Amino acid sequence: MTTADIRRTLKDATRIAVLTGAGISAASGVPTFRGDDGLWRNFRAQDLATPDAYRQNPQLVWEWYQMRFNAVMNVQPNAAHLALANLEKGCEDFTLITQNVDGLHQRAGSDNVFELHGNLTQARCEACGEVVVLEAHFPLPPPCPACRAPMRPNVVWFGEMLPEHAFEAGVDAFNRAEVALIIGTSAVVEPAASLGRIAAQAGAFVIEINPDRTPLTMFADVTLRMDAVTGMAQLLG
Ligand code: NAD
Ligand code: ZN
Repeated sequence: MTTADIRRTLKDATRIAVLTGAGISAASGVPTFRGDDGLWRNFRAQDLATPDAYRQNPQLVWEWYQMRFNAVMNVQPNAAHLALANLEKGCEDFTLITQNVDGLHQRAGSDNVFELHGNLTQARCEACGEVVVLEAHFPLPPPCPACRAPMRPNVVWFGEMLPEHAFEAGVDAFNRAEVALIIGTSAVVEPAASLGRIAAQAGAFVIEINPDRTPLTMFADVTLRMDAVTGMAQLLG
């Protein structure tokens, strides 16, 4: 298949499902966990993003999230985020499922976005369920405006359940998609990775963009072994 064929397949598709991971935000300056910048004060991200770490030291975990919140507020969506927002405009049935918690897809103009792992620009009250959007210089921990209990980051930690609604939306979208795009995810965290397999089994044309091989590569019809910005430019021409 030539690049022109791949572009035409994407252009003609009326149903597109996209799964993104931390790799799509790398070019904006948001580090991935598994990359070389995944360390903070000698902690591995995987050891901080857990319910246990939060129980043992909520202050430490909040400081890490505040650092990441400040970082995200200081960066911009990149050309790959913008390309996906543009692709959505020309497509009848477009669903974007992201594992990212940085909110950059929405800031790039994507509308139909489902966040599998929550959003680090928000806090959630475990006592009453209230969710708030964080402002610059928020106190640690932010108090719940409804019941004053300390709030936690509104993200899904390792070992926690995904929001059912977001995952179901992903399963539906990947089941009915003509084209499935999998961008910048290592696909080692289930069940997000299963979305790629669902699309392949349902007969979608699966395109993967990732500089490294992943467990989903074997299900892809086309793999662009490159960064997300270059890959999206190649797809959209
Ligand atoms: P991940 O498992 O999605 O792995 C990152 C993937 O991106 C790797 O496969 C890597 O090869 C690929 N990649 C690296 N640079 C790339 C580029 N320029 N273009 C395209 N692909 C590239 O993510 P992770 O970092 O291991 O994080 C695990 C979880 O932690 C995420 O699912 C998310 O919930 C959270 N997280 C979110 C962000 C964010 O919101 N930006 C960043 C880090 C971690
Ligand atoms: Zn509350």
